[in-house]
Amino acid sequence: MNIFELKTDLDSSQVGHEMYALMEELYPLCRSITGNGVRESLALVQRHIPLEIHEVPSGTKVFDWTVPNEWNIRDAYIKNSKGEKIIDFQKSNLHVVSYSIPVHKKLSLRELTKHLHTLPGRPDWVPYRTSYYVENWGFCLSHTQFLGLQDDEYEVCIDSRLEEGHLTYGEYYLKGKLNDEVLITSNICHPSLCNDTLSSVVLLTFLAKHLRSLGLRYSYRFLFTPATIGPITWLCLNEARVSNIKHALSAACVGDPGKSTYKKSRRGDAEIDRAVSHVLKHSGKDYEVWDFVPYGYDERQFSSPGFNVAMGSLMRTPDSLSVEHHTSADNLELVQPEYLADSFSKYLQVIAVLEGNTKYLNKNPKCEPQLGKRGIYRALGGPHVRNGELAMFWVLNLSDGEHALLDIAEKSGLSLDLIKDAADILSAHDLLQECGREQHRRAVSCDGG
Ligand code: ZN
Repeated sequence: MNIFELKTDLDSSQVGHEMYALMEELYPLCRSITGNGVRESLALVQRHIPLEIHEVPSGTKVFDWTVPNEWNIRDAYIKNSKGEKIIDFQKSNLHVVSYSIPVHKKLSLRELTKHLHTLPGRPDWVPYRTSYYVENWGFCLSHTQFLGLQDDEYEVCIDSRLEEGHLTYGEYYLKGKLNDEVLITSNICHPSLCNDTLSSVVLLTFLAKHLRSLGLRYSYRFLFTPATIGPITWLCLNEARVSNIKHALSAACVGDPGKSTYKKSRRGDAEIDRAVSHVLKHSGKDYEVWDFVPYGYDERQFSSPGFNVAMGSLMRTPDSLSVEHHTSADNLELVQPEYLADSFSKYLQVIAVLEGNTKYLNKNPKCEPQLGKRGIYRALGGPHVRNGELAMFWVLNLSDGEHALLDIAEKSGLSLDLIKDAADILSAHDLLQECGREQHRRAVSCDGG
């Protein structure tokens, strides 16, 4: 099976439910930028794809950064003077500031308040906070609960360990015909938060799972790393491989009800930018395309000037516009199977555009070939026969070895699917030949030769 058949045959709504089921399993685990929560999460992904797990020791220098100590947590709580647990890590891992150092002591409400985080504007939600690179400790709770705290002596306990260990990340490489790669990345460091970024973890897992069985032109690399330090570590350890990456997407926030939003690569006019814009334009749904900005997810590192990888970010509601972002409201209710399915389907279509964007040569370039006598005039286009006919004329006219199929789709305003179907029919009738493909013992050169 190829990507075009898969795209037509696959029931993406079923895939959306499978993605959601994996997200439900991942949701309760306490992930951070290092630690056992990341390992357990990657082990769940491994049940679907043969992910390679990498362990990079604490203290490893990676460009201007150092791999931090590993953080693990067993339990945490705040008890009042009656011994009642008023905050319990076992109920939600968002209650503890990620990377909190161990603490066990009694203190007054005034002293405790310095270590409490709330969201006064969203009084029923619990915020998500981290302190990766400054040693500190803290708890997060709803503002409503905070306002109800009595003047009392509180016992705080964070049973955590911050010590030499490893940074863990997952990588899956799928070899295609070419060494040229398509890279798709997701962060895996957030605890019980769904859209940011469990939605992209399950997206990558199921994309990889379905691409595995296909014959592909490009090679594909899927990376599951912690934010910032993860891509920096990967880039430092794999610098020699970066030139193979031709197209890249940083996936995040792909499961909420909002419209699709694409943030272009730093280059702005890369093939990946054109491929995603094409898919969104022909999706029949509302969408937005943004110019590059140097913040966000892994594009911050891959798009740094020393690498300038063509990496865009295909999301739904970007974190900067999401009210639920980094709060307990980014949960299993916000993300739904239908939105995961829609994102999955769009990513698959983008991959199909990249796979299908090859050049052809018209083998009958002097005047139009007579399509009628070959039985292919008006053979294409279903209810829109006229478009099918137009697609064939566009493909015949622009298959001069200069224009690839996406160029033809953009110039004609037709979808790449239709242009590709036209190229397939014309090739089957020996009117067209794909560049670089040996046929009739004669290699066709498409470099104007
Ligand atoms: Zn985040």
